[in-house]
Amino acid sequence: MSFQVFGIAVTRGVAIGRAVLIASGRVDVAHYFVEPDRVDSEVRRCLAACEHVANELQALRDALPEDAPPELDALLDVHLMLARDPAFTGGACQWIEERRYNAEWALSAQLEALGRQFDDMEDDYLRERKSDLEQLVGRIQEALALQSGAYKPIQHPAARASDFGGDAPLLLVAGDVSPADMMGFREGIFQGFITDTGGRTSHTAIVARSLGVPAVVGTREASRLIRQDDWLIIDADQGVVIVDPSPIVLDEYRFRQRQSELERARLDRLHDKPAVTLDGQHINMLANIELPEDVQAAIAAGAKGVGLMRTEFLFMNKAGQLPSEEEQYLAYRQAVEALAGLPLTIRTIDIGADKPLDRSHGAEARHDTTLNPALGLRAIRWSLSEPSMFRQQLRAIVRAAQHGPVRLLVPMIGNRAELLQVHEHLRQAYAQLGLVAASGPQPMQVGIMIEVPAAALCIDSLLPLVDFVSIGTNDLIQYTLAIDRADQAVSYLYDPWHPAVLRLLADVIRKGAAAGKDVSVCGEMAGDASFTSLLLGLGLRSFSMQAAQLNEVKQAVLRTDCAKVALVANQVIQADTPQAKAQAHKLTR
Ligand code: PEP
Ligand code: MG
Repeated sequence: MSFQVFGIAVTRGVAIGRAVLIASGRVDVAHYFVEPDRVDSEVRRCLAACEHVANELQALRDALPEDAPPELDALLDVHLMLARDPAFTGGACQWIEERRYNAEWALSAQLEALGRQFDDMEDDYLRERKSDLEQLVGRIQEALALQSGAYKPIQHPAARASDFGGDAPLLLVAGDVSPADMMGFREGIFQGFITDTGGRTSHTAIVARSLGVPAVVGTREASRLIRQDDWLIIDADQGVVIVDPSPIVLDEYRFRQRQSELERARLDRLHDKPAVTLDGQHINMLANIELPEDVQAAIAAGAKGVGLMRTEFLFMNKAGQLPSEEEQYLAYRQAVEALAGLPLTIRTIDIGADKPLDRSHGAEARHDTTLNPALGLRAIRWSLSEPSMFRQQLRAIVRAAQHGPVRLLVPMIGNRAELLQVHEHLRQAYAQLGLVAASGPQPMQVGIMIEVPAAALCIDSLLPLVDFVSIGTNDLIQYTLAIDRADQAVSYLYDPWHPAVLRLLADVIRKGAAAGKDVSVCGEMAGDASFTSLLLGLGLRSFSMQAAQLNEVKQAVLRTDCAKVALVANQVIQADTPQAKAQAHKLTR
């Protein structure tokens, strides 16, 4: 029967296809597709882990003392029976053979499938056996992790929907998708994403946006209500997922899908057009990237450089190993060279919060309610606590800067002392390389992200120490409004129109410009065309966003008269009333 699931729309458009499920609560294991020629060995890996656990359980049972409680014996018996049950092990292998899921994912998928059967059972005792199955799967997944020493890096086979027994596009449904898994899914196998958790600026949303595919997050229950292979429509304009739609609804959405494809094709034609406002202001349109290979898409979409390279994605899926200086240098250099003279802004690692370096630690931190990693050791705080790792990254960036225009960007600066420490580390990195700061085709500029309200409020004391600033509105909103950006429970409070946010933005833009420093916005607000006029009115002249958003924002730039909107923008930031918001929305027309 058809039903709907509601969530938060984080990209635009419509996707129609079949559900591929990542079971909720199992984000702490890797999810990836294995290469076709590795399917057999993956099946063997899975079976070996099941057998290993079955043997362990058998040994435990054999060693039970005479006076052990009979319940313990019965419990081990149930686990043992499940571990050797072909409906369980055979089912898991089938996910590997038919869908090419890695063994850990296949086990979770089988748990989900059997778990639903347990849920439907009338008998209380049998229904409760689901938790035994969950424990068993956890144990086998642990055995797999121990076997391989660490999590395997994500594979990137060029999978197609037809590899999965059908031509319908595949839509990923998950409790949550870790940033590391999300990177593995960038190859385009999924044409839409639905998650239970997350907000507008959670990293799942950002990566989905970079792929330009429809996504709805924060649905709370999608992964529980939707079943493997269900037909789905993602209406990412409205934040709705329609499960098992009727033929009439399908027809309507197919029509809307074609309309949005036409609209996209129309916007693509703006790609070569200079971004100049009606009153002749030239606007710098830059792209945000995660990996060096994203440069191609950025240039193809008309970007005039990279305003934010999130280097933490180079550090993920490394099985606990950090990339060496050489590896980093080669990656940054690849991006510099692909940009062929256009600027590359490399942000030092921003690890922590919802981008854990280590998969298991991330899951632990997220589930520990006494710990909010967003307020903890993340970004520059983490780098400064790991000085040799930080200098290694700085050396790699300085070396890459010898090949083209590179700007160094430091995330989450909260005070002047941190910034002075960064300068000292940078001085040492140059010295270790036997270089001076002015070396390279042009001196490497140093800038900071304005993401912490303290930095925005004390911008006067930071500006003399930097060449440029980039406003990270995702975090600036999170910290100003005290809402965890990844927590859908407080996502209703996420309000970029909040006067506190707008006043901080206005202040940084004005003071940065007065000091002759380049100011850009690289948070999601920059890529949302409904804010373009307001930001132009506040004096912003440089925007950095996902490549897929460039043309829509450019269209808004072409339609704006900066002088006119400046008058209204100033009124908007002064007032805190619904009327002011209405006025702000009018700006966008
Ligand atoms: C931001 O906070 O706006 C930003 C661009 O950084 P990230 O989303 O990577 O935290
Ligand atoms: Mg940030």
